[in-house]
Amino acid sequence: MIRLSPPLRVAVLGAGGLGQAAMRVLAPKEEMKLVAVADSRGFAMDPEGLDTETILDLCAKRASVGTAPGVGQLVDDPLGAILERSEAIDGIFLALPNLPNEFIPQTVERFARGGFRGVMVDALKRTAAVELMFELDPLLRQAQITYIVGAGATPGLLTAAANLAAQSYQTVESVEIYFGVGISNWEAYRATIREDIAHLPGFDVEKARKMTDEEIEAELERRNGILELVNMEHADDVILERAGVVDRDRVTVGGIVDTRSPKKPVSTTMRLTGVTFEGKRSTHTFTLGDETSMAANVCGPVFGYMKAGWWLRSLGAYGVLSSANVMPQFVR
Ligand code: NAD
Repeated sequence: MIRLSPPLRVAVLGAGGLGQAAMRVLAPKEEMKLVAVADSRGFAMDPEGLDTETILDLCAKRASVGTAPGVGQLVDDPLGAILERSEAIDGIFLALPNLPNEFIPQTVERFARGGFRGVMVDALKRTAAVELMFELDPLLRQAQITYIVGAGATPGLLTAAANLAAQSYQTVESVEIYFGVGISNWEAYRATIREDIAHLPGFDVEKARKMTDEEIEAELERRNGILELVNMEHADDVILERAGVVDRDRVTVGGIVDTRSPKKPVSTTMRLTGVTFEGKRSTHTFTLGDETSMAANVCGPVFGYMKAGWWLRSLGAYGVLSSANVMPQFVR
């Protein structure tokens, strides 16, 4: 069994819905500890470990993590401040909004050029954004960063499940991902909802980025809080193609997001159809438990992939890998 000792020193960049959930997921872990967190106004850092409750209390009050007593600072460039102190960080989870598409890839490039050495994981969703990440492979190899792209739920957990399911078949015909997400209010996951709106007919990334919060609310109101997403530009396609599982045009992703109730409107499934070596056509289905939240299904895999990335580093593997290339490792 692979055990991380001493614990991996983790930074969470972004303290919104996913960032806060990530901190909660980390809190009871023995193999990882939270040493740094940033939001758009400031950062908090303690190489010995931050007190998660203090940070989460500030988030609940909508105060910046930079106001955390003794460990926080309000600064103009919180990501730059974390980078300057990154010698005390082993693993980074990028829980930042990705609007425009280039934002997270550019942030990663900045960390690579700025001298960070460690593991990085993201929960990127868009195909175009993940393709930009793959382009950074030579730079990240050179910088000795081990990066796992698309390490959330979809892409992430469900993409990995598709790769696993594919192994029963000689040829893979299709991968269909359909997700159900229930959240009690959109404000808890602003970037997620804004990015989902960008997938709706008549919208794009640029348009969604420019919408005011009031416009987002009005759009949600028009749809009774429900976003129905079909044929999304979702990176499960490029990730599975690059992993050699199936051509990207055979992968479809859609789902329903209810922004007014934590109950999932529909179960989340990954269905892979293929033909076995005996010529039998069949479908493997992977269904997430309805009680599991989006946050649990994103942040669990994120740290599982971070642990796997750390192990790969110890073997000298650097560069950009995806959630379908690597099996996540359970974090104790
Ligand atoms: P959010 O809007 O709730 O929070 C974003 C956080 O980032 C805030 O704390 C904000 O202050 C901070 N931030 C913004 N700009 C910053 C900057 N320049 N420097 C430092 N901090 C900055 O976002 P969210 O809903 O938690 O979503 C985060 C990301 O996770 C989104 O890109 C979303 O698409 C992605 N996501 C992925 C999956 C998946 O399964 N792959 C699922 C859900 C969400």
